[in-house]
Amino acid sequence: MITYYCVHCFQEVPEGAESCPHCGMTLDEPGGKKYEQKLLAALNHVIPERRIMAAQILGNLGSQAALGTFLEILNSGETNYYILRAILIASAKINHPERITILETAARSDLTMVARLAQDLLAAVRENRPIAEWDRSPC
Ligand SMILES: [Zn+2]
Repeated sequence: MITYYCVHCFQEVPEGAESCPHCGMTLDEPGGKKYEQKLLAALNHVIPERRIMAAQILGNLGSQAALGTFLEILNSGETNYYILRAILIASAKINHPERITILETAARSDLTMVARLAQDLLAAVRENRPIAEWDRSPC
């Protein structure tokens, strides 16, 4: 089951709702192009929590368009572990060869926790193990 989020306030919204019950904004079709573009824009949001949520949703949607932005963030010198973690887990869920490039890049990171997570995710992807379980591991 997919959980739907409002891309304006990032609260959970019921499936099929035309406007957000929390902030009142009109909702785009979840999974549609406009929805995906708003999530991609949110990856550069000033509030880290929004960026993390956007990355998680894009990963669950399997958004191949997100991979380029994920790699840019990774190469930008971002050091926020929680953002990097969300990006790596999301990348691992997106079935596209570029996810390997992203995970291999992160596996060489100077940040030990990031490098270790990337190595674990690479192993999981190569062994075709499900990635969803990583969401539940403690931050
Ligand atoms: Zn809202």
